[in-house]
Amino acid sequence: MSGKVYIVGAGPGAADLLTLRAATVLRAAQIVLHDDLVPQEILDLCPVSAQVINVGKRCGRHGRSQEQINALMVWHARETQSQTILRLKSGDPAVFGRLAEELDALRRAEVEFEIIPGVTAASAAAASAKITLTDRRAASALVVATAHNCRNESLSETMEPARSTYALYMPGPDYSKTVQGLLESGHEPTTPCTVVSNAGRANEEVRYITLHELKSANGIPAPAVLIVGEVARERLSIRAEHLPAISSEVRDPYCQDGFPIQPSVS
Ligand code: SAH
Repeated sequence: MSGKVYIVGAGPGAADLLTLRAATVLRAAQIVLHDDLVPQEILDLCPVSAQVINVGKRCGRHGRSQEQINALMVWHARETQSQTILRLKSGDPAVFGRLAEELDALRRAEVEFEIIPGVTAASAAAASAKITLTDRRAASALVVATAHNCRNESLSETMEPARSTYALYMPGPDYSKTVQGLLESGHEPTTPCTVVSNAGRANEEVRYITLHELKSANGIPAPAVLIVGEVARERLSIRAEHLPAISSEVRDPYCQDGFPIQPSVS
């Protein structure tokens, strides 16, 4: 039986800002592939029997390519007896965490996975600074952007609306008005979006539709968040034809040119 990969948000770095769900899977972990920003305090929650591997980019020669990290997840899930494989990332895995590439690899390999969200750095920073990210008297939008992207684009290019994801809180109950506003601000009617009601609760509902379809949608329960933009397509693997073929590394990432290599264990 194949193992399951848990992609877990470790939060901003204090163990007590970890979610209970994250702590539960950490205590059951057999394999942990973690980034550099995850502190030892959190890794200490793993059982002593767990294999804990630093796959972070900042650990010099031990740094692994994204393809190697994908391969490690797939290999441990498919080729070993491990049932509980953790991919542990700082903050929230869906915010600047290269999550999309890892999900593509897991989907292509048909490996079961679950994402456990974490407290993102912006929330932690606002709490530390005792400021608010939105203020109904002054700020109705929160922009989360990176000053470094993989295409070396300038910040002005990064901020282009077509390259952005919008997470609209309180999008209902009049979705046609919300959609109208988005169309007037330059979105195409075919723009993909995802509406998630009761996210993370037992009664959650996820809808993948276009803005045009959303305009006449009915019966979307509150509370909901509307995510608008290219990332909101149901399956990133729809774009699988643009991805490189799965390399032989995926079959055994500890083997290079026919020779076994050791993982860097932290
Ligand atoms: N997935 C993470 C972000 C990873 S990108 C999240 O949701 O928070 C790494 C960047 O996040 C760092 O360069 C820094 O800008 C920010 N970051 C992560 N942890 C932080 C912390 N404890 N305090 C301040 N910034 C932090």
